Amino acid sequence: MPRYELNGQVAIVTGAGRGIGRATALRLAREGASVVVADINEANAKAAAEEIESAAGTAYPVTVDVTNRADTERMVSETVARFGKLDILVNNAGIAVIASLMDTDEAAWDALMDVNAKGVLLCSQAAARQMIDRGNGGRIINNASGAGKTVPGRGTPLGAYAATKHAVVALTKQFGLELSPHGILVNCVCPGIVDTPMWELIDREVAQLEGVPVGSVKARAVARIPVGRIQEPEDVANLIVFLASEDASYITAQAVNVSGGLLPY
Ligand code: NAD
Repeated sequence: MPRYELNGQVAIVTGAGRGIGRATALRLAREGASVVVADINEANAKAAAEEIESAAGTAYPVTVDVTNRADTERMVSETVARFGKLDILVNNAGIAVIASLMDTDEAAWDALMDVNAKGVLLCSQAAARQMIDRGNGGRIINNASGAGKTVPGRGTPLGAYAATKHAVVALTKQFGLELSPHGILVNCVCPGIVDTPMWELIDREVAQLEGVPVGSVKARAVARIPVGRIQEPEDVANLIVFLASEDASYITAQAVNVSGGLLPY
């Protein structure tokens, strides 16, 4: 059952081919929005868009590399060509690299910063230009992370990833302030440990570094979650659709946790 009135709204979700982005695209479509399913993985973008359409939703797949300015501008222009406008941008695309800071080479640093931070900058600029021209406001919702508010700690080699997510929180707050005169609200979500292919990668690679069985790193992390279960992509989508809705019309420049209590601040 739809909970929010997103009928007639047009949304872009980046990284929507799988994981949290896919769940968010499906949910926005269920709430009545027309959704551009944007991903660097063309096959996954098409599959997610087909899933939305087969559930009587409206979707359009776009292949995009969020690190490429021309791609991000084309993503917005194709959205407007297809649906006539853009109301909601969800900057969800992201990557993780497993390495201690001492072992983080420049290639890993650049890739992380490019996708996770520059991608948010470029997509937000392209979307906000369109929203400003149209003069009807809009929403930008970024997928940051708990790692955007705290550091992962000695046993969790995600330091450079955390640096990029701190950047996402800063981009969210500053964009929120800069775009407020245009009625564009900008917020980010900070999830905890979400059951997606990204966490499978973290589990596999940290397990290999530690010489422990695959699955045990994830199990250890899940054991620390106060609500007692791993987070599902749909738990994150719940917050994103709220932030896209009329009920969130007085919220901007915020970093909102959705972590099952893992982030009690
Ligand atoms: P995922 O790896 O399952 O999916 C990420 C998607 O982004 C993929 O479909 C991938 O193809 C796409 N992508 C990667 N690089 C891209 C690029 N350059 N251009 C366009 N698309 C690109 O990851 P996920 O777990 O669903 O994570 C989604 C977001 O949530 C990320 O920003 C991640 O950092 C954040 N996050 C994840 C968790 C978690 O526990 N999984 C927790 C907090 C935050």
